[in-house]
Amino acid sequence: MTISFIKNENQKELYSKISILADRFSERAAKNDEEGRFPFENIEDLKKIGYTSLTVPKRFGGEGISLYEFLLYQERIAQGDGSTALSIGWHLGVMMDIEEKKEWQDDRIATMAANVLNGSLMNRAATEPQTGSPTRGGKPKTSARKVGDHWVVNGRKTFTTMSPALDYFLVIAAIEDTDQLGEFVIHRKLAGVTINETWDMISMRGTASHDLILEEVSVSEEDLVHVIDKKNAAPNGWLLHIPACYLGIALAARDYAIKFANEYSPNSIQGTIKDLPNVQRLVGEIEAELIHARHFMYSVARQWDETPNKAEFTSELGVVKYIATNTAISVVDKAMRIVGAKSLQRSNPLQRYYRDVRAGLHNPPMDDMTILNLSKSAFNSLT
Ligand SMILES: Cc1cc2nc3c(=O)[nH]c(=O)nc-3n(C[C@H](O)[C@H](O)[C@H](O)COP(=O)(O)OP(=O)(O)OC[C@H]3O[C@@H](n4cnc5c(N)ncnc54)[C@H](O)[C@@H]3O)c2cc1C
Repeated sequence: MTISFIKNENQKELYSKISILADRFSERAAKNDEEGRFPFENIEDLKKIGYTSLTVPKRFGGEGISLYEFLLYQERIAQGDGSTALSIGWHLGVMMDIEEKKEWQDDRIATMAANVLNGSLMNRAATEPQTGSPTRGGKPKTSARKVGDHWVVNGRKTFTTMSPALDYFLVIAAIEDTDQLGEFVIHRKLAGVTINETWDMISMRGTASHDLILEEVSVSEEDLVHVIDKKNAAPNGWLLHIPACYLGIALAARDYAIKFANEYSPNSIQGTIKDLPNVQRLVGEIEAELIHARHFMYSVARQWDETPNKAEFTSELGVVKYIATNTAISVVDKAMRIVGAKSLQRSNPLQRYYRDVRAGLHNPPMDDMTILNLSKSAFNSLT
């Protein structure tokens, strides 16, 4: 028995609804993975329980859930299906981020909140083939030029998670004839918006993170919602949906391995392999790693919720992601060692978890940047 992260009746009630759905998602996961298919039904199921609007602020009629609660639910969804969790995590997280930072005009936040309450989905399309991860600071090739009272946007974004289901793409573009970058809200039905189905990765196959193509897409002046100030970038608490996702996948791997060890009984031993010291050691290590990573993640999330000055969070958020994603890789590896060669069967969920947790390394922030920033901040503390 370990400490539960569910802290009150509201959380308990919603968590149990989400658990029912997550178990259903896990039954659909193998087929979606095999076919590289977006889990439309899962997203519809989540919409039906109001999940997709949970981060809409209370002042606009939403639930305005805390970061802690967001992670609690995301982790549970990922136990059922990592691709569904990562996809809906971007959407919910972006809404949380827009409200947290208030970089958009208030009427634009209100409009997006109303759209989300009506079932619309959004995600940021920031990555491009030429820049790689936008967190590295490369300038987007996607451009926006002013024509009369409109903006005309052209470009190609890669890794656009949930592309078949999104209503709004939040596109980062270079504003022509300036050094500025802008964030534009682009509706999928606008002329010139197409999806090129390029996503054929071995990991997170259901996220349908295809390329977004923008050809002479005309948007109104107000759709430039935010001119980006790179020098004063605020911390991104909402990005902790990424560690929650990969820890959820690791929990699913742990559950599978424990159940397997409890039942598998080769005829070289009396009883099942759960009584063997080599298996018990691996299970104990898995438990220790998960307790460590989860307590750290939820503790930082709680402090985020309770601390008004978010600027204090320069180091912890990156370290949560660093520890969680590497823990997830290690836990899945150990779960597979417990199960043995059967874990490699294509019908076995462990081989999907093994592929899926690898993707965490390539979601932001990347490990090398986290470590380098920690080192810089340690030396800066001397001055
Ligand atoms: C499952 C999944 C879902 C995603 N969803 C989205 C999404 O919805 N929206 C979105 O915008 N993006 C999304 N991404 C993209 C993600 O955020 C990264 O932009 C993408 O994975 C590319 O990162 P990279 O490190 O592989 O690429 P690169 O930045 O090209 O890096 C490749 C290699 O070069 C090195 N490198 C490159 N530049 C530098 C540098 N300046 N300094 C040091 N090292 C460098 C890196 O360390 C790495 O080893 C998603 C990615 C994945 C895997």
